[in-house]
Amino acid sequence: MALKLEDDLGARSMSLLTVQCGLLPPTDLNAGDRLELHRRFVTGGDADTSVSRHGNAALLFDRDGDWFVHNQSSNKPLTLVNFDDNRTYVIQRGTAHKLTASYSELYVGGPHKVGLTVHSTNLQPNSHGPGETTQSPLDQGMEAQLLELFQRRPQVRTVTLVRYQDFIPDGHDRPSRPKHLTAMEVTLCYSGVTVGAVNQYQRDIRELIGLNADDLGPWLVERGLLHPTDRIRLPHDNCGHRPK
Ligand SMILES: [Zn+2]
Repeated sequence: MALKLEDDLGARSMSLLTVQCGLLPPTDLNAGDRLELHRRFVTGGDADTSVSRHGNAALLFDRDGDWFVHNQSSNKPLTLVNFDDNRTYVIQRGTAHKLTASYSELYVGGPHKVGLTVHSTNLQPNSHGPGETTQSPLDQGMEAQLLELFQRRPQVRTVTLVRYQDFIPDGHDRPSRPKHLTAMEVTLCYSGVTVGAVNQYQRDIRELIGLNADDLGPWLVERGLLHPTDRIRLPHDNCGHRPK
């Protein structure tokens, strides 16, 4: 009986979600509330097509004291950055992802992101239960290793961003076949590195996660590891690689 009582109390635990979108005042959601982060809500109008419109946009809802993001889009993944474990999660179309961090940021299209603060007694750093985002263990391991490398050696991250800058989504049309910069072109964009170092970093990444230069760009895109906000991290201090 004691266990049963605990279960009942657990199901009624308090859970509040605060949603911060741009300069709008924060929105508080209580148990039973639902909020769709559709184009008009996020951008204030209908013109910016980088955010999905009503019916296809991210939907926030709760179940048994947990908050979830449901990606209702039929064609594009969403990216969630979990500030508790500093990991990036890709929420594939048609799947729901449980919010396990006290604070996360959800990229809903183009440069638009939404801050999600969970005030809950239920938070536990588990993942990958039923209905949550699933990634292959292989991809998860590769992603974690690459992010760890970037954290440990920030210059490798910078060089990778410079090299794959054409792959960074900008909320508008991307070149249909983006190409990575050559090592020489990287040095012409970013003065802080030599051609030899750029090639060495690429070899380090290949050794770590097994992807060569041609395969890394599409993989970064597929994993949602490139954000529109990464553009501001591009040094562009020596630019001659191409006129933009
Ligand atoms: Zn540049």
